[in-house]
Order: sequence, then structure tokens, then C-alpha cells
Amino acid sequence: LTFLGIESSCDDTAAAVIRHVPGQVPQILASVVEGQTALHAAFGGVVPEIAARAHAERLDHCVEQALVESGVGLADLDGIAVTSGPGLIGGVLSGVMLAKGLALATGLPIVGVNHLAGHALTPRLTDQLAFPYLMLLVSGGHCQFLIVHGPAQFQRLGGTIDDAPGEAFDKTAKLLGLPQPGGPAVQAEAALGDAKRFAFPRPLLDRPGCDMSFSGLKTALLRARDALIAEKGGLTVQDRRDLCACFQLAVAEVLAEKTRRALAVYADLSPSEPALAVAGGVAANTAIRDRLEQLCALSDTRFLAPPLRLCTDNAAMIAWAGIERYLAGGFDDTDLVARPRWPLDPTAAPLIGSGK
Ligand code: ATP
Ligand code: FE
Repeated sequence: LTFLGIESSCDDTAAAVIRHVPGQVPQILASVVEGQTALHAAFGGVVPEIAARAHAERLDHCVEQALVESGVGLADLDGIAVTSGPGLIGGVLSGVMLAKGLALATGLPIVGVNHLAGHALTPRLTDQLAFPYLMLLVSGGHCQFLIVHGPAQFQRLGGTIDDAPGEAFDKTAKLLGLPQPGGPAVQAEAALGDAKRFAFPRPLLDRPGCDMSFSGLKTALLRARDALIAEKGGLTVQDRRDLCACFQLAVAEVLAEKTRRALAVYADLSPSEPALAVAGGVAANTAIRDRLEQLCALSDTRFLAPPLRLCTDNAAMIAWAGIERYLAGGFDDTDLVARPRWPLDPTAAPLIGSGK
């Protein structure tokens, strides 16, 4: 099967072509991603109107480039997978309309893909992982634990009730005058800091379950920063490093403890090939990653982190999730609708805040 994938739900316009031969590792024939960071930089966040316009302008070109790079013509495709939610509705609509146009012109089936399912199924694109596996999605916009039972069966064990960790890293960097994206900058400072100097909270660890909260950490950091500034008129290089180290340790400890609990729930299913996969930009953090790897080693669980370019937003994961859904008998028609909200696990409690 050869699928075109289209992604335009946030601030990356992307198109990809994937070929799947049963029994073989799927091939990524092309994966084009056009980011919009520069367009939104002046506004301190993604502006939905600007994003929608940029997607509408760039999608054609992205798809064309993916087809050219892969050497695959429209006639060689077996289907078109497109992100049909959740996300910024203007962008999602642009992708869905393009997919419909292509489907009408070619007669190919459309497969609407949940963006989060794309992230959650990525480990099967790179590692042919067996179901069920445990997934931790941890990025700038998301933070949740999922047991992936099948291409369309996701069990949500918990997630953030407010900020995502990546967002917290970015805000921390902003508060300390470090460059964006904040994650890599905070990690570099933290490596030289004293993680014992400030006692930052470990939110929600005193409560059972896998829900998390990260917004309080940012407030604690702000207070510690302001106390230092009030005391001596500014922050030294070492103050900044220590603040970063304490913040990162708090995030890492919360994620590790909640992962330990999620692994315990998952182990009760007696999976045949136990595995924890991580995805999202924050999974690049070595302090966090080391802890998760240690936990996995303790419970004989395979630890997997797909390459970062496939963990952050891309269309290869959408094409792949589309193939998985199609092979399971799922596809749509030109009546496919764009859904701004679309929980992966409809039985899980609705989320509060930006954790989607
Ligand atoms: P989403 O796609 O889930 O809506 P996003 O596009 O913001 O959100 P990603 O591109 O997956 O998410 O990840 C970006 C986030 O990852 C940023 O918040 C960034 O600060 C964070 N990040 C990147 N590298 C690191 C690191 N080494 N440590 C911590 N955080 C990091
Ligand atoms: Fe994403």
C-alpha cells in the first residue's frame, strides 16, 4: 500500500508518502515539513488566523514536493490520509479540503486521521511494535499516558490537567531570559546547576492515578526568581542554572513517578512484548529520558523513542496511521468533517485546560 499523508493541524504544514509491504518495515519515501515558527515569533505563540492562511498557501506545494521526492505519482497511490482533528480548525480544514479535492480527482479513498493517533502509532512505523504498548506523549501541547491496544483503540490513563511540560519549559526559559524553544536552553543550563538549591513542588504526586499538573511549577519558579531579584537586584549566571536544574528535576520526578504508576497498570494486562514508547519534543530531554529508561529496565520493559523528526509534527505519522486504519477497514468519504476537538479515548474524563 502506498499512502499520501497530509498534516496541517498546528503550525507545521506537512506532506509525506509511505509505502507498506506486509511483513516488512514501512518505507518513508518522502516527508516534507514546512514550519511556521518565524511567522508566529513576534506574537509569542501560534496565531490561528496566520497559521490557517499559511497552511492554505503552502499545502499544495508540500504535497507536490512529497510526490516529486518520493517518485510516486497520484496514480500510484492507494489512499490519502489527512489529519481531520484535533487542532486549529482553519488549518485542519485546509488539509481536509485538499484531501477531498484530490480524492474527487483521483477516486482514491480518504482516511481521516486523529493527529494524536498519528503520534501514538509512530512507534509501529519505526519499530514494528506489538500491541498493546504504553505510550507517553509529552510535547509543547500534550502530555498523556495511553495504552495503545490497536490502531483505533486507545486507553487514556491520565494526563496533564493544565500546562504541558514543553510549555512549562518554554515559560521557564522566558522567565529567565533564555531563548525559545525553552526545552533545550533550560536543559543546557540545568546541566551546570545545583538541583537541590530550591525546593519546588511535585504537583499531584500525593494523589493516586496518572494525572499531572505543571502550571504550579512555573509559579514556584517565578517566586524564587523574584525573591532572588528582590534580595540582590538581579540573577547571577549560577542562580539561573540552579533555577533550571531545580525546575527540570521537578518535571523529571513527576513524569517518572507517574510513568511508574502507568507501567503498573499496563503490566496488569500481561502484554506479550512489554514496551514504553515516548513521543513529543520533551522526550528529547536527557534527564527525563534517563529516568524513564531506568524505570523500564527495572520492569523488563522495552524503551523506545522514535527519532525526533518523527516525534514532532510531521505527515509521515499521518500517512502511517492512515494505512493502519485502512488495513483495519476504516476509511471516509468526501463527507469527512474536520473536528477541532477529538479525544482519542472518548471514555476518559474530559480534560481541563490546554492539555487537549
Ligand atoms: P504539539 O505538536 O504536541 O501540539 P509542539 O509542536 O509544541 O506541540 P513538539 O514539537 O513535539 O511540540 O515539541 C516542542 C516542545 O518540546 C517545546 O515546548 C520545547 O521546549 C520542548 N523541548 C524540546 N527539546 C527539549 C528538551 N531537550 N528538554 C525539554 N523540552 C524540550
Ligand atoms: Fe503534534
